Amino acid sequence: MQRQSQWVKAFEEGHAGERELLGGKGANLAEMTRAGLPVPPGFTITTDACRDYYRTDRKLPDGLMEEVFAKLTELESKQGKQFGVAPTPLLVSVRSGSVHSMPGMMDTILNVGLNDRTVEALAELTQNETFAYDCYRRLVQMFGNVVFGIEGMLFERQLHELKRERGVEQDRDVDAAGWKQLLERYSALIRRHARREFPQDVREQLTLAVEAVFRSWDNPRARVYRKVHHIPDSQGTAVNIQSMVFGNRGEDCGTGVVFTRDPSTGEKVLFGEFLTNAQGEDVVAGSRTPRPIAELAAEMPAVHGQLLATAEKLERHYRDMQDIEFTVETGTLYILQTRNGKRSAQASMKIGVDLVAVGVLTPEEAVLRAEPGHLDQLLHPTIASDAELDVLAVGLPASPGAATGQAVFDADTAERLAASGKRVILVRAETTPEDIHGVLAAQGVLTSRGGMTSHAAVVARGMGKPCVCGCEALAIDVEAGTLSVGGQVVREGDFVSIDGATGRVIRGSVQLKAAEMTAELQQLLVWADEFRTMKVMANADNPEDARKAREFGAQGIGLCRTEHMFLSPERLPIVQAMILAESKEGRMEALGQLLPMQRADFDGLFRAMDGLPVAIRLLDPPLHEFLPNMEELRAKWDDLQAAGAIDTAGSPASSELQQLERLMRKVKSLHEVNPMLGQRGCRLGILYPEIYEMQAEAVFLAIRDCMRDGVQVVPEVMIPLVGHVNELSLLRDMVERTAHHVLQEDLHRVAYKVGTMIEVPRAALTAGRIAECADFFSFGTNDLTQMTYGYSRDDAEGKFLSAYVDRELLPANPFQVLDTEGVGQLIELAVERGRRTRPGLKAGVCGEHGGDPQSIAYCHGIGLDYVSCSPFRVPLARIAAAQARLQQSAAPKASTEAAASLQMQAAQ
Ligand code: ADP
Ligand code: MG
Ligand code: MG
Repeated sequence: MQRQSQWVKAFEEGHAGERELLGGKGANLAEMTRAGLPVPPGFTITTDACRDYYRTDRKLPDGLMEEVFAKLTELESKQGKQFGVAPTPLLVSVRSGSVHSMPGMMDTILNVGLNDRTVEALAELTQNETFAYDCYRRLVQMFGNVVFGIEGMLFERQLHELKRERGVEQDRDVDAAGWKQLLERYSALIRRHARREFPQDVREQLTLAVEAVFRSWDNPRARVYRKVHHIPDSQGTAVNIQSMVFGNRGEDCGTGVVFTRDPSTGEKVLFGEFLTNAQGEDVVAGSRTPRPIAELAAEMPAVHGQLLATAEKLERHYRDMQDIEFTVETGTLYILQTRNGKRSAQASMKIGVDLVAVGVLTPEEAVLRAEPGHLDQLLHPTIASDAELDVLAVGLPASPGAATGQAVFDADTAERLAASGKRVILVRAETTPEDIHGVLAAQGVLTSRGGMTSHAAVVARGMGKPCVCGCEALAIDVEAGTLSVGGQVVREGDFVSIDGATGRVIRGSVQLKAAEMTAELQQLLVWADEFRTMKVMANADNPEDARKAREFGAQGIGLCRTEHMFLSPERLPIVQAMILAESKEGRMEALGQLLPMQRADFDGLFRAMDGLPVAIRLLDPPLHEFLPNMEELRAKWDDLQAAGAIDTAGSPASSELQQLERLMRKVKSLHEVNPMLGQRGCRLGILYPEIYEMQAEAVFLAIRDCMRDGVQVVPEVMIPLVGHVNELSLLRDMVERTAHHVLQEDLHRVAYKVGTMIEVPRAALTAGRIAECADFFSFGTNDLTQMTYGYSRDDAEGKFLSAYVDRELLPANPFQVLDTEGVGQLIELAVERGRRTRPGLKAGVCGEHGGDPQSIAYCHGIGLDYVSCSPFRVPLARIAAAQARLQQSAAPKASTEAAASLQMQAAQ
């Protein structure tokens, strides 16, 4: 009798490890059956069969249905019922179930095995004709929809009509005669649309149902879902054939869904809903409002108790929070499905830590399960998940977090209103350095132009401010103070909200949930720090960010971008004067004014990071970034001319005009065809040595001051954009001279380092030479990616990159996820050659990739010493670095898969 089956497996023959073969639902039904839980018996058609079906151009595999009917015979004897035969007809459900959960994407048919004869037998057997015909009409409806492809709405409409005629509100108030009448109409519907009868032959029913479930793998919504979740189309679905249990037999019956813990808070309470006298998907369908599970305790105390015990057992068994489907038939509990439950970020942390506390998980497992994306959500304010939103448009999600406030259209107004205690959102077509005070004052920034590295985006991310940029659907009229989109107008002072994690722009104010570092997150981070070997630094440009970074656990500052210090409203004019100076003397004078300011900046940073390294990068961007843009100047010029400045020489307007013209000449002379590859970074420092000298002097003066106050300073000076060792050699000499000059006899007490960004491919290739002059390498992977691919990021992201990713020409946006295959080669090569010259050379990544979990794992794998990311991503990076280490040490190679599947399961 026990013939080896090729395509089917009884529940008791399988187990949870056979997910790939049995699908998630089938594997878990098997596992629960083995564990002795009350699962209605049945069997699973494997995903192999589905793959075979598609391989043979949609033909059921040879021998499949023979095996199915053989297994069905076993099921009949187990249940003491016969399929399609009175007086005790066996009914089954035919359920889809893929490897990765795809909730609601595929189809399931209940009550297969009913026909005009067996329905009478069921009525007789249960002494409940209404129930029997309710089951039958459900079957015909689902069958018509799933097998014959008739729109579900058509059936629903008939049902509504019938209830109206009979003067009843609820399905449960329809009697047997009503269901019989509905069945007539359903049959007619099927005849009309499918041009055939509903099959009375139950074996034909089963065959068609199995095939329809296979087919549902390929329906459009399933295809879209797979694409979004990166599930391979080739995987196929399993089909579960399971003996029916009935929650619709009366008031001592019901069906529901429970989570073993609250999925939004993680609290350990049974959480869920149920309906009495209902079948299958009535709970989620929304036709009746389900009741909270707590009420089941009063109504069916024994069942509730059993459910609690089962929840506990399942959670321990699967070592994770479970999402469970159950049905109660005349007081008896059955479990129909279990899977790892989806949960909020907060719940996820709490559940992980709580499961360690009760000994279900080890700390290592809890850390491995933490989802970096969840951390990102936790550390920024978010929109309350139940908020109703009036979404106006969607732009680029440039800096995570949500913000709400009154729309303002210029930086000065933003500053003024914020000073009077108002919350504002700065709305600009695009932002320029001059808007910085507005950005600072605003809750968040919204622009209609610019990509993920546009000024607004970079600045906002650095400040941890929410930002949506490049939202091209918005028409922004600064003069009128309006923002319009699709016929809607938002005026200055109206409330708008943005969600920087999704790019949504929302009309009105929304309820925000504050970011919080919960006790559970702290605990996970403490564990992560024990496990990881790679350091996590922060990119920070001011003492406030530095303190924040430290609070989040940064072990130093990996990148301080000094240009951000030049952009404040009181400094920008001095910086501009420096740039406009016609002579070296003029330039020196302006630099002389900047020196004490820079000195104070560095002083603040060193004090905030007392005892930890601080890497200061000398000025990087081309000078024209500090000047207004040409269009603006031209507009001003036109205005002045119109005001008649020309005719009245000597008037104030005339001298203004002269100044303006001088500025325009300078802007023109600094104009570059391709600024990314132009005069910036060390090239600037070499041609205008006095700028770098001023910065170096400020660094060492601050060091001297801090040391005198007992602050432990660990300074690093970083030279950007080096491509040839000679550039670095020259600038290193300058730094050393300055150190000597400022520190004098204190010099030997300061172990400062001089290093370089590796961001030009030539620097990576000649790293062996460059290391002769560098104490450390900091990979500037943003620029390195631009130059390796030959993409200018703003142009690429604005134009072709998303099309490339959509069409799978690239696996991901290389500015978000490090291109390990290409850019990675340069990094590995540079580390190897650099360390050959200088053993133990410190190396890390300070580009945006330093905050991306996948890239962090790679950095760990190739032996980098640290990653540096924005303060808000520091906790995420700590977890990701620990995960990388744990995955690596578990068992090389295979372990990464195991951990990935663990994470994948946790995510489902
Ligand atoms: P989905 O994957 O869309 O949840 P399911 O296969 O889980 O589809 O089934 C849909 C509904 O039918 C669920 O509520 C499930 O509990 C119920 N159901 C499935 N099989 C049976 C059965 N044999 N007896 C009773 N209810 C069932
Ligand atoms: Mg289900
Ligand atoms: Mg760079």
